[in-house]
Formats: sequence, C-alpha cells, structure tokens
Amino acid sequence: MSIENLARANVRELTPYQSARRLGGNGDVWLNANEYPIAPEFQLTAQTFNRYPECQPALVIERYADYAGVNKDQVLVSRGADEGIELLIRAFCEPGKDAILFCPPTYGMYAVSAETFGVERRTVAARQDWQLDLPAIADSLDNVKLIYVCSPNNPTGNLIDPDDLRTLLEMAKGKAIVAIDEAYIEFCPQASCAGWLKDYPHLAILRTLSKAFALAGLRCGFTLANEELITLLLKVIAPYPLSTPVADIAAQALSTEGIRTMRQRVTEISANRSWLQRELENCACVEQVFTSDSNYLLARFTASSNVFKTLWDQGIILRDQNKQPGLSGCLRITIGTRDECRRVVYALSALPGATETRQEPM
Ligand code: PMP
Repeated sequence: MSIENLARANVRELTPYQSARRLGGNGDVWLNANEYPIAPEFQLTAQTFNRYPECQPALVIERYADYAGVNKDQVLVSRGADEGIELLIRAFCEPGKDAILFCPPTYGMYAVSAETFGVERRTVAARQDWQLDLPAIADSLDNVKLIYVCSPNNPTGNLIDPDDLRTLLEMAKGKAIVAIDEAYIEFCPQASCAGWLKDYPHLAILRTLSKAFALAGLRCGFTLANEELITLLLKVIAPYPLSTPVADIAAQALSTEGIRTMRQRVTEISANRSWLQRELENCACVEQVFTSDSNYLLARFTASSNVFKTLWDQGIILRDQNKQPGLSGCLRITIGTRDECRRVVYALSALPGATETRQEPM
C-alpha cells in the first residue's frame, strides 16, 4: 500500500503554493518574488545558541509596536506573515464546518493554508476596478469565520478603498475576523489600518519584514490585533517560532537606523517604479500598466507567454499571472534596481506589438 493513501484526503488533493523559489529558473535578474534586489548586511550579536529562544522576543515586539504605533500586547511575531495567515485559520476555523473568504485575484496563500486544514475557501471575485464587491460579500458570509483582504493587493498593486474596509468590518462584526494583509504597506504607509485597532476587536493586520525591510530570507512577520485576539493566536503558535539569529537580526532591522534605511529603500524603489511605469507605457508589446502602491507593477501584454519566455531566456524572471481570474495576459514585475528596470525595458522594446504581429506576411 502506498503511504500516500494514509495521508488526509485534502492533503492528497492539495496543490502546494507555487512559490517563486519552487518555480525555479536560471536568471540573473530576479523580479518574480517582490523581494528587495540588494542584500542588507547584518552581524549576529546573540551567541546563546545552547538555549531555546524566547517565544515572543521582547525587543522585537517592543520595537515593532513602536514602529507600528500600537501597544506591545497588540503585536505577535511569527515565521513570516505566512505563518500569521495560518495561525488565524488554526485559531478561528473549524475544519469541515467554517469557511474563509477572499476576493481573487489576490495572494495565493490564503487558499493554500485553508485547504491544508480542510477549511472551505469561499471566493467573491473583486470588481473590475479590483475593489471589494461588498453586496456579494454580504450575501456570502454564512459560516465564514475569517475574511482576508490584501491592501495593497498582490498582484494587482491597488489599495482597497478605506471606506469599503470600514463597511466590511461593520458587516463582519460579531461573525468573522477581518484580516487585512499589509505586507506592502511600507510603500504607502498613510494607508495603514493599524490606527483602527481601537475600534474593532475582530480586526487583524498582517505585516512582514520580507518586502521594504529587505529580509525575505529571514522569515519574520507580524500580526497586529487587540490583546484578546493575540492571546488566542499565542495558544496555537509553535513554542519557539523564531530562532535566535532571526530575533537578533529582526531587532536590528527595527532599530531607528534600520527603519531609516528601510524608508530610503522605499523612496528608491518608488522612484524606480515610476520610471518603469512610464517606460512600459511606451513599449509596443504592453497593452496596459496598472497603477501600483507597492514594489511591483502588473501589466497586460499583447502576447504575454511570448514576453515571459523571451525575458526568461535572457535571465529576467517575471511572475506569470495569466491564470488568475481576470488577469489573462498579465505579468507581474517586481521593482528591482534601476539597472534591472533598464534590462526589462531593453528586452521588452525589442518585442512587437499587436498591430505589428498582425502585419506579418500570411
Ligand atoms: N502577504 C502577501 C500579500 C505577500 O505577497 C507575501 C509574500 N509573498 C506574504 C503575505 C508573506 O510574507 P512572508 O514572507 O512574511 O511570509
């Protein structure tokens, strides 16, 4: 008998998250995982590797609370925001009974995490402008315990209207947790909902050091919520979610100096994004570039598989979003260094547009 038959049915059927690293590629310009393009330098200061680490390292919690403008008891630190996504499901959703709800096109891990736990995934497609379809959400809330909203949304790059988020929070009151995924919020800090925690006991906000803090390899993320909700998550988290080196480096990244450096990165990446947006709009093979408040741009191409493959062959690795609902012909491009942006534009400018393709001899 195959060992596979012993696995839970939902695990047998599960398609794991197709992370950029799993998809592979042989590039030298990596623009498929929304990472920062240059490695920051850190020295380890903690050497007590014979001891278990703190479950919630005090200095990291204190500094993140200061940075986010919340109280220390409103912060949970975990192995990336991905673990935060999972902890919410584990704490709030009964397998086979409760559902999570999200609005595609959006980040893929909400679905994968729910599937892993045997929790129903209910979807309400975003409107054409990628805002929330609130009436359709209101009609779909039976048994929903957890609603994920990503703002700025990955992969579309748009912010969700704050009035709509308020309406959603009112709608979900007493029924479901609303998790606002702010993984990219450093690129538009004025849009954060962290100041709303005092109004909503059922609000959770997901954050990460993987993007503007340039530490995707560290695996460190945060959940912000009121103490009652954080206490529930602490019941289901692993005893030692962060290793000693992770806590050490996270604390350094959250020092005054670390935060200043992060803000410089945001300025640089935002300038590169504006530059790339203008250049893309002049490329014949680009149909549309969508406005973004994050460290990536989504664009629709006249022949996206050809564009993807041509750049791939030149070592420029983008993220294909073709299969996501409403995103046919779309590729997502992480904003890299100015040089990397130039490489993208150079490669794209050699590709024909729709009319030129049609003019090919029969
Ligand atoms: N949320 C969104 C919207 C993301 O794009 C990502 C990173 N791909 C995450 C959460 C997960 O971040 P982390 O690296 O902290 O697990």
